[in-house]
Amino acid sequence: MKKMMIDMDDVLCTGGHLGILNRFLNTNYTMEDMPGYFVEDLIPEERLTEYYEFFQTQNVYDYVSVMKDAVEVLEKLSKKYQIFICTAYYTDVYEQDYSKLLLDKYVWLREKFPFISPYQYVFINDKSLLECDIKIDDRLDNLHGYGETKFLFTSHHNQDISEEELASQGIVRVSNWKEIEMLLLEK
Ligand SMILES: [Mg+2]
Repeated sequence: MKKMMIDMDDVLCTGGHLGILNRFLNTNYTMEDMPGYFVEDLIPEERLTEYYEFFQTQNVYDYVSVMKDAVEVLEKLSKKYQIFICTAYYTDVYEQDYSKLLLDKYVWLREKFPFISPYQYVFINDKSLLECDIKIDDRLDNLHGYGETKFLFTSHHNQDISEEELASQGIVRVSNWKEIEMLLLEK
């Protein structure tokens, strides 16, 4: 079986950090309002500490939606490929304790994707370490390194990356799970 790396945030689910931000600011921001990858960019600097304290009391995955068709397609893929859910939980950009985020990721994956064993969870920051044949991620830097098939999952923060740039790195853009199904199961 070929090995397949699948990212979690903005590939299997979407909207978690944005949901917490909206609850905190009492706003209705959408993905399109986000200037970059991190929702913290929308918070006034003087409220950042307060935001982190609030964030620690929340479960990101109470706010997410499962990406459309992800469960159905992933279950089909898991019969043909060796799946690894590869997701980072830590960043040192914002100083806080991420241990709860790690646990919340684990619990959500168990609940929503019960057919994927925790043996197949990989909590990792440098995904270039992973020797997987097929890689799916919404961040270009996570697709670097080994891999024969690489898909960039379209997200608000990667829409401006041109097809030429992707092609030069051997990467194909996909916008939804039905496209992945077609490319990996029907071709
Ligand atoms: Mg991601």
